[in-house]
Amino acid sequence: MENVDVIVIGAGPSGCVAAAHLARQGRRVLVLEKQVFPRFVIGESLLPRSMEHWEETGLLPALMAQDYAPKLGARFVRGTDELIDLQFDDNYTTGWTRTWQAPRAHFDKTAADATAAQGVDIRYGIAVEQVDLSAADRVRVTARHQDGTLEAEGRFLIDSSGYGGTLVKLLNLPDERSPVPRRAVFTHVRERDRDAWPEPMQITFEVMAVDLWFWVIPFSDGTTSLGFVGHPRHFDPFDAGRPLKEAWRIMVERSARFSDRFADQEPLWEPHVLNDYTHRAGQLYGRNHVLTGNCTGFLDPVFSSGVMLATESGLLAAKLTDRVLRGEAVDWERSYSDHIRWGASVFRSYIDAWYNGDLQTIFFNPVVEPGIRKQIISVLAGYVWDRKNPFVARHDRILGQLAGMLRAQRTGGTVTENELLARG
Ligand SMILES: Cc1cc2nc3c(=O)[nH]c(=O)nc-3n(C[C@H](O)[C@H](O)[C@H](O)COP(=O)(O)OP(=O)(O)OC[C@H]3O[C@@H](n4cnc5c(N)ncnc54)[C@H](O)[C@@H]3O)c2cc1C
Repeated sequence: MENVDVIVIGAGPSGCVAAAHLARQGRRVLVLEKQVFPRFVIGESLLPRSMEHWEETGLLPALMAQDYAPKLGARFVRGTDELIDLQFDDNYTTGWTRTWQAPRAHFDKTAADATAAQGVDIRYGIAVEQVDLSAADRVRVTARHQDGTLEAEGRFLIDSSGYGGTLVKLLNLPDERSPVPRRAVFTHVRERDRDAWPEPMQITFEVMAVDLWFWVIPFSDGTTSLGFVGHPRHFDPFDAGRPLKEAWRIMVERSARFSDRFADQEPLWEPHVLNDYTHRAGQLYGRNHVLTGNCTGFLDPVFSSGVMLATESGLLAAKLTDRVLRGEAVDWERSYSDHIRWGASVFRSYIDAWYNGDLQTIFFNPVVEPGIRKQIISVLAGYVWDRKNPFVARHDRILGQLAGMLRAQRTGGTVTENELLARG
């Protein structure tokens, strides 16, 4: 029987940030990870806000040393001639204005090794299969590895098992699935001649239809991540029983901007197809446990919010757990759920506005005051708790209002912040 202060399920970004913070407070932390690292996971384009989390938990130097491709902003393109560049340093909120794009297998192993170097005991190839949370002062976990089982006891349990959703499954917690059908198909390519296509240090989103887009994420190792996301009706080549690589080529040929560059590039592996990944857990905590990262929910790949929300929640959960271990009373609803739900709800508004076309109207319309643009970039950088920013505070209505004004005065002058705020 292993005996520790805190057991963490999963060594992804959320689990590592949580574990590293607790170890830095002198806690004994055991991380149980089902897979053996390096392991593939999607989610390769990060947001500047997450840099604060790597920094605060001491993981930043190891990640900095890896020469990952810098990400300085996002570029949105439509057709062959519409393009907008949004740079994170043109940003409303004070904070980091750069981050990375990185293959997650390598990135997550680096973060996990740096977490272990802080004194965290990480065990790989061990899947948590049972939990007993009935005792007031102890949690007990049973995990399986190739040679048998491992029993561990701790004072608190953090579920950072991402798409595994361990506690949601084991405790039968409510988990709401989105009724909107979505599909993502993605792979990596190694371009024969990357230099022929000068690539800025950012992610590119190509709008192919109001509810279909294509991502292009160049890495520093010469490979590029490509992915289509949208309504399943756009993915007919994948529904016709064709080999996956052939269906992929047909999709790439439909890209107005990138067909020439990528249609004859052989995928490095069979494209992955994911459906209906959007969900939201109904309860994020209990007396002796908390859910973080993708266990709390997952919104959508657009705007790359996943890892940032994973590290934000991992770090906050760890801070609150430490207070519980010190014997303090913690109001998890206000201090944790409300905070995480708020950040997710701001991104939710931007994602909804993306798929209903409002944000595309805003991005591809030049008549927006620079101050407004800064406030929107701030959200895209992950600063979704800066309520001084009207594009955070009024996230649920301001994008629709702005898009409506732009549609009404396409040929008129610049839309100003004051004009917009006067709408309430
Ligand atoms: C198509 C697509 C594109 C995306 N693109 C982006 C992007 O560009 N940028 C971005 O920020 N996010 C993106 N995301 C989201 C991103 O993948 C996740 O939000 C992020 O990986 C969540 O981190 P995490 O630490 O919560 O979980 P994970 O990274 O999934 O880590 C969880 C770990 O828990 C382990 N585990 C699972 N079950 C158990 C168990 N029972 N016992 C022990 N260990 C277990 C797993 O093996 C895994 O290593 C994308 C998602 C999708 C679907």
